[in-house]
Amino acid sequence: MEIDILTLIPGAFQGVFSESILGNALKQGILKVNLISFREYGEGKHRVVDDAAFGGGPGMILKPGPLTTAIRDIRNTGKAAPIVGLTPQGVKLTQNLLREMSHMPRIVLVCGRYEGFDERIRREFDLEISLGDYVLSGGEIAAMVFVDAMARLLPGTVGDKASVEQDSFYDGPLDHPQYTRPSEWEGLSTPQVLAEGNHSKISNWRKAQGLLKTAVRRPDLFCRLNLGGKEKEHLRDCLVE
Ligand code: SAM
Repeated sequence: MEIDILTLIPGAFQGVFSESILGNALKQGILKVNLISFREYGEGKHRVVDDAAFGGGPGMILKPGPLTTAIRDIRNTGKAAPIVGLTPQGVKLTQNLLREMSHMPRIVLVCGRYEGFDERIRREFDLEISLGDYVLSGGEIAAMVFVDAMARLLPGTVGDKASVEQDSFYDGPLDHPQYTRPSEWEGLSTPQVLAEGNHSKISNWRKAQGLLKTAVRRPDLFCRLNLGGKEKEHLRDCLVE
């Protein structure tokens, strides 16, 4: 997959994009990211991309001209790609949305700054995505979150595919409780079933615990799960125990 990021501060991405799992995915070419400064498209000697709001008010607004030209240039080069505006006014980023988009060969992310986009830029967007109901100073952190979460879904980024498939939200519910050594710590012991070596029992226990955790912590999510007969059975067994 190729992701183009239109931003005013490409330097903000350096650390996050060069370390750990994401850094490796980029080095291995599983994912290619192009950072494009739309300052290059700014007006005049000073490459101006923002101006005061019509009607008055605080802060500066991203002018329609420079960003629209940058988006159109990108649209007209390379593989077809949806243009995604990052904004608190968009649809919420979810694992489901990421999974749907993970099959796309190319995605363009547009990072806003200041007081945001002149409304006329919005017609260039095929989709607007928000990280959640809060306001960041710019779209760069949202773009980093999108790229990191997307990279995990691309084959080869995470060594063991099963580790991604058991993550929270992948199939709907939250991840099951996890334990590691020592089996006794500060008077707390790990569940007996995990030490017994019965893989089918462990798998059923984990499924049930994941569902239970979801019901307690995220009843909204639990209500939307489409539970099959087997899952209901595991849950019943776990509640009875
Ligand atoms: N005045 C705008 C509003 O209330 O909708 C917010 C502007 S914000 C200070 C500047 C930029 O940060 C936005 O244009 C957007 O690109 C980015 N941003 C802020 N919050 C975001 C969020 N929750 N999700 C994605 N991007 C966000």
